[in-house]
Amino acid sequence: LEDHLRQALKMEAIGRLAGGIAHDFNNITTVVTGFCELLLTGDLSPHDHVDAIRRIHEAGTRAAALTRQIMAFSHKQLLVQCALNLNTVVRDMGSMVERLIGADVAFVADLAPGLGPVNADPTQISQVILNLTANARDAMPTGGRLTVATANVELGDETVRSHPDVRPGRYALLSVSDTGTGMPEDVLVHMFEPFFTTKGVGRGTGLGLATVYGIIKQSQGHAEVTSRVGTGTTVRLYLPLIDEPPAVADGDGVRAEKGHE
Ligand code: ADP
Repeated sequence: LEDHLRQALKMEAIGRLAGGIAHDFNNITTVVTGFCELLLTGDLSPHDHVDAIRRIHEAGTRAAALTRQIMAFSHKQLLVQCALNLNTVVRDMGSMVERLIGADVAFVADLAPGLGPVNADPTQISQVILNLTANARDAMPTGGRLTVATANVELGDETVRSHPDVRPGRYALLSVSDTGTGMPEDVLVHMFEPFFTTKGVGRGTGLGLATVYGIIKQSQGHAEVTSRVGTGTTVRLYLPLIDEPPAVADGDGVRAEKGHE
């Protein structure tokens, strides 16, 4: 691709992103100012006060989530890598994941006993799980099942043949599967690109999977997605296993990571 064309595409993508963010924030401020005006004019019954405050609170929470997502994407967060057990992160996030997917989606955690530790930032891994959970939820508007699983796996020559940048060796696998809409080929080929979204202005930023990809690559990992329209999607993330730190004594190594949460 010629340089100026690449630059033009980048500017177009940034323009689209800025438009999306402006749209999102505009919706949020409309909610906040609208309900504040209603509260200040005294037109609301005491019962409606609580509802108005709840709507303002929701808007604030959405603004914070949006800001976090943009910050995570622009790598403004400090990277704190440590020996981390992915099972610990999944367990800690369980209730948040359940809240995010809603009552119509069942949550199954299938965590491998004896999962080895990886070198990663717990905040970033939480971000990865949140982004994938949000996508799974969006793909299952009428309910379904979200499965988060872990496993110790070996990536051998086959994987390296199709993905020359992957080093053969032992990895911790984190997979997130949904029983949702799945992705057609023309979405699958673009899904990791920043700003690529099929969710429409103000609904998707197109940064979710790009962020996941960036985080996994930063940790020398490997990401794979399989998807079938009408059946669902599985995202598989492989992070290189590190040698078990000698301090780990209890269960599957939960204690050694506690200090980093
Ligand atoms: P966003 O969620 O903001 O659109 P992402 O980068 O997370 O951005 O995803 C890009 C696109 O990939 C989505 O718009 C959607 O079309 C598709 N996608 C991602 N995850 C899934 C999934 N689990 N099921 C179906 N489609 C998905």
